[in-house]
Amino acid sequence: MKNLTLSTLARLLPLACGRRSARRLAILIYHRVLASGDFMRSDVVDEARFEWHMELLRSFFNPLSLAAALDLLKTGDLPPASVCVTFDDGYADNVEVALPILKKWDIPATFFISSGYLDGGRMWNDTILESFRQLEAKDIDLSSIGMGVQPLATENARRDTAQRVIDALKHRPPEQRSAGTRFIASMASELPDDLMMSGAQVKKLVDAGMEIGGHTVSHPILAALDREEARREILDGKNALEKLTGKSVSFFAYPNGKPGRDYTDFHRRILPGLGFKAAVSTHWGVSTVGSDIWQLPRFTPWDKNPAQFMLRMIRNYQDVQ
Ligand SMILES: [Zn+2]
Repeated sequence: MKNLTLSTLARLLPLACGRRSARRLAILIYHRVLASGDFMRSDVVDEARFEWHMELLRSFFNPLSLAAALDLLKTGDLPPASVCVTFDDGYADNVEVALPILKKWDIPATFFISSGYLDGGRMWNDTILESFRQLEAKDIDLSSIGMGVQPLATENARRDTAQRVIDALKHRPPEQRSAGTRFIASMASELPDDLMMSGAQVKKLVDAGMEIGGHTVSHPILAALDREEARREILDGKNALEKLTGKSVSFFAYPNGKPGRDYTDFHRRILPGLGFKAAVSTHWGVSTVGSDIWQLPRFTPWDKNPAQFMLRMIRNYQDVQ
């Protein structure tokens, strides 16, 4: 029954992808691909789920590199059910867990890496998650960051409280966010320093034919920075990756990526002058020949079974931006 549903849905795909002249490009976003399940990240893709995602892409879609897809998008020659795979931030598990699966199913991908965290760095949201993983009290007083007393008694409570702290700090000014993160981290003992890629792992991706894209140095919300700082973050991140890989970095992903909130038209307009050829946001939807190549929409497939995944991909192909 499950297989029947899947094959029926697969037959619907070409209908969802539009006439040849208006073919649509889906760009998927992943962040981490965990080696195994983790209660602190219960909705994150693990190895088994990533494997069947890639198997479905190879079986029913046309996976393309971002560079190839954008060339075909311009000329209106995309094949049906075109899809690109992208990863944001530069997690080590992308190389350790996802890369062998991408190679197995022959799927090209683009990795948008924040250069400042390579070789032992840790993003602030991971500092929060990893700190809460270690907290064993019944509850925690977070009045100093404006959140009152929050529960910690169960694994679920620790995860949910950590997520609420991340959501609360995300859009605060950078110095407030850092102070809040330091306060949480001060309650934990040793925190991991191997979550992000090493320089050698970035080179391994390049050697495997994968594309590296810019994602700033320190993953700030660009809209919260002054213009010169934002320009420096974008350019310095690009230069660091180019120096490391010896290849030009042509694509950019806006940190956090919501148009108008996390980045503005100013950031979109400076990218061509900084040497980029296109950029991706985290606004959901698919692209067509008329889409703005400086803020191509993307989409996160989170489904836990293949038929739901196919159904969501079909719905996403209707969502032209
Ligand atoms: Zn990011």
